[in-house]
Amino acid sequence: MSNTSRSKAMKLRKSHAGWGIFMFILIFLMASVILALIASMLITFSVNSKALSEADAVNYMAKLYDLTDEKNTDLVLSNSNRDCYVLDKDGNYLTEIGKNTCDQSSGQPFSGIVGSYTAGTGVKIYTDKSHGFLTVDESGNLEFDYKSVLSIEQLTDVLYADEDYVSFPYWTSAPVKDGTLFVKTVIRFDINDLIYVGIIILAAGVLLLFVGAAMFANIISNIVDHVKMKRLLFMDHISDDHNWVRFLIEGEEMLKKRRNKSKKYAVVNLVFVKYRNFVLCHSVEEGEDQLRKVYNIIRRKIGKKDMVAHVSTSSFPILIAYKDEKELRMLIHSIIGELEKIDSDHKFAFQAGVDLIPASPKKRNVVFLEHYYNNACAARMTLEETDESGIAFFNQKIIDEHKWIDNIQERQQRAIDNEEFVVYYQPKYDPSDNSLKGAEALVRWNSPDLGFISPGRFIPIFEENGFITELDHYMIRHVARDQRRWLNSGYNCVPVSVNVSRAHFIEDDLADQIRDLVRGENCPTNLIEIELTESAFFDDKKALLTTIGKLKEYGFSVSMDDFGSGYSSLNSLKDLPLDVLKLDAGFFRGISDDDRGEKVVSAAIKLAKDLSMKVVAEGVEEKGQVEFLKHEECDMIQGFYFARPMPGEDYAARLAGGTATETVTESAEETVAEPETSESCETPEGADGANEP
Ligand code: C2E
Ligand code: MG
Ligand code: MG
Repeated sequence: MSNTSRSKAMKLRKSHAGWGIFMFILIFLMASVILALIASMLITFSVNSKALSEADAVNYMAKLYDLTDEKNTDLVLSNSNRDCYVLDKDGNYLTEIGKNTCDQSSGQPFSGIVGSYTAGTGVKIYTDKSHGFLTVDESGNLEFDYKSVLSIEQLTDVLYADEDYVSFPYWTSAPVKDGTLFVKTVIRFDINDLIYVGIIILAAGVLLLFVGAAMFANIISNIVDHVKMKRLLFMDHISDDHNWVRFLIEGEEMLKKRRNKSKKYAVVNLVFVKYRNFVLCHSVEEGEDQLRKVYNIIRRKIGKKDMVAHVSTSSFPILIAYKDEKELRMLIHSIIGELEKIDSDHKFAFQAGVDLIPASPKKRNVVFLEHYYNNACAARMTLEETDESGIAFFNQKIIDEHKWIDNIQERQQRAIDNEEFVVYYQPKYDPSDNSLKGAEALVRWNSPDLGFISPGRFIPIFEENGFITELDHYMIRHVARDQRRWLNSGYNCVPVSVNVSRAHFIEDDLADQIRDLVRGENCPTNLIEIELTESAFFDDKKALLTTIGKLKEYGFSVSMDDFGSGYSSLNSLKDLPLDVLKLDAGFFRGISDDDRGEKVVSAAIKLAKDLSMKVVAEGVEEKGQVEFLKHEECDMIQGFYFARPMPGEDYAARLAGGTATETVTESAEETVAEPETSESCETPEGADGANEP
């Protein structure tokens, strides 16, 4: 997992829904407060502006009162059509227009006055307990005070005093020449205006509620999605517990936090071998049941703080704390032992790869668990499938092996393009007269940076990655080219066998491809023999039969390589029209001191003869073996006793000097040239030359 994905996943794991809900409440409250503020500002503004215009009117009345002589003051005041009264400077009542304007018995201008407010014009506004809504707070701000309304009747009386208006009466004062003038004033609002404002405020409130509800629903759905996403990302649907991502993140956190740095941890890759086979024979559901059981057993067997997860199809990464390797091995053995008995009707196999995590990681606080798990997987992959319930520990050799594979794969195509592969020839001799009867072409890689590499180090890699087909084509082309060159040089050429990998046999037109390659080099097909390894005979028999039939039809001979090395392929001998049987080198190990071995070889030679096949004995190194094979009338011997694989030049020298009896020559364009010789023969000192015929 990349660092970016890892940190994203960690953030997501730590995130929770509470934050979203908190933000929602905060935003909703803020929006409500703003709405309330706007509404109150709107009301205050309209009340203030109306109150100011009333104050202007009262000031005007006061001015008129001052300008008028005493006899006409009542007339001036009554002209205003407002209830009013005047008190002198000592608070004594002077005059009154209208009714119930003041409480004369208490000597107070008006019994209900609860506060006063000095409006912008300097006019004081008095609030009236029995009618007024307007009160003034301590700092002199005008505000509504519904509590000051004594009863609902009075309120409705005031509110609906007029059909089209809502009136808020109150008392206002202004200084006059002989005291203070008190005027009953009224703030009036058009009911329609109030309805509009009310509707707007209500609509804003409803809108706020809707938006809030929508936001809340969205938050709830986000929370649900969040929980689902977390489940998907961090939970395995089979075990209903840790999956790979969670294992990785929590495992790394645990390793980073470990206080006791000397505590040792190991990561294990435990695999249910052939799980897919089980699913094939049963069902996915039954397979998943088994995986669940496996998970639960591992969970139970490991420590509380240890971790396990189910990943991919049938793998279980485990992170275990351990004291020593022996104890760890025993624990894994016991887990595997219990897992094998998970189902009494089946015998299951499990394999484990283990990597020991160093006590103190190289960089403090940086632990890449994935890296160690990868090592554990690589260790597990070194186990053969047949190695049931095996345990492999990771070591440096595994890294070297993988690096080698990587090196080879990186260079393979360039090696073909640059012709770095070299054809070596190992001659085959007839033991009856020591004559050269044939040869096998064996590849060597002369790499400019990796050096001289023998096929055992790269052929298995090519077979695994499919590049072997390229190499086989290359070899066929080069052998055909060499044969053509030697024919042109006038040598008595003998058939050369070329190994063709079983990977090729899935191709329908293999025989045609080989024919075209050989013909492309203008080489007679009877100078090329195709060697098939025994393992190729396990593939599609029908296709193999067709290909062999075609190859023979085109003039090639076909041999079975390494006969007797693997599983018996006697059946293939029965079915397939092969020309040559190559007895595996294994037959000749210890043949001289064991007559049972001789009997087997003798029977194999007889069988081949009965089937009209020629016999080649491979890997013959000793004189006694040669004598025996000669006695058994083995047709050819290919082995170090006669010759090691050698470069083309050396082989050509042998061709030139050899006593081949069954040679193929071409008369027409032959021009006999001096055979090239080389010092670069692979033969080590004393192993070969002395025995050369
Ligand atoms: P193979 O086809 O069975 O080749 C015979 C191997 O036995 C050769 O090993 C040869 O050097 C070795 N050998 C022959 N005589 C003796 C002997 O007396 N003693 C001992 N100890 N060994 C002997 P080599 O060249 O290392 O090749 C190994 C295998 O690699 C071949 O086994 C063949 O399977 C594969 N191979 C080699 N070249 C090619 C190729 O061009 N294409 C393909 N597909 N496979 C190839
Ligand atoms: Mg071979
Ligand atoms: Mg062989």
